[in-house]
Amino acid sequence: MIKGSCCCGSVKFELASPPGMMGICHCSRCRKAGASALAFVDKDSFTLLDGREFIQRYEPDPPFTYARTFCKNCGTSLGEIGSENDSFPISVNCLDDDPEVGIQFHVYVGSKPAWYGICDNAKQFPEGPA
Ligand SMILES: [Zn+2]
Ligand SMILES: [Zn+2]
Repeated sequence: MIKGSCCCGSVKFELASPPGMMGICHCSRCRKAGASALAFVDKDSFTLLDGREFIQRYEPDPPFTYARTFCKNCGTSLGEIGSENDSFPISVNCLDDDPEVGIQFHVYVGSKPAWYGICDNAKQFPEGPA
């Protein structure tokens, strides 16, 4: 099991299997939300253990479609916990254990600020993945 939690510990979850994909999104929205490092997990492998009442959902205005969740006590970005999709992103920052996968891609590299240097050999996409 791979455990995850928010900063204050109110929200706790676990993954039965490692994420299918992991990458960094350099878009300004992920950066501002503090959720640039994302791991895609299968809905079936994700179990929320505690803190359902602390999960706040932010629904963006169109054209943006990516809803985000965060802990309303401590503000930790959680990704898209509660999604109905078969696979959804969670914020890698919340993981307490090694996810057993590394960074496989960088997306929206065209929006990356100059102060952030990419220091790995993962595939880079100027915008979203092709
Ligand atoms: Zn919290
Ligand atoms: Zn993004």
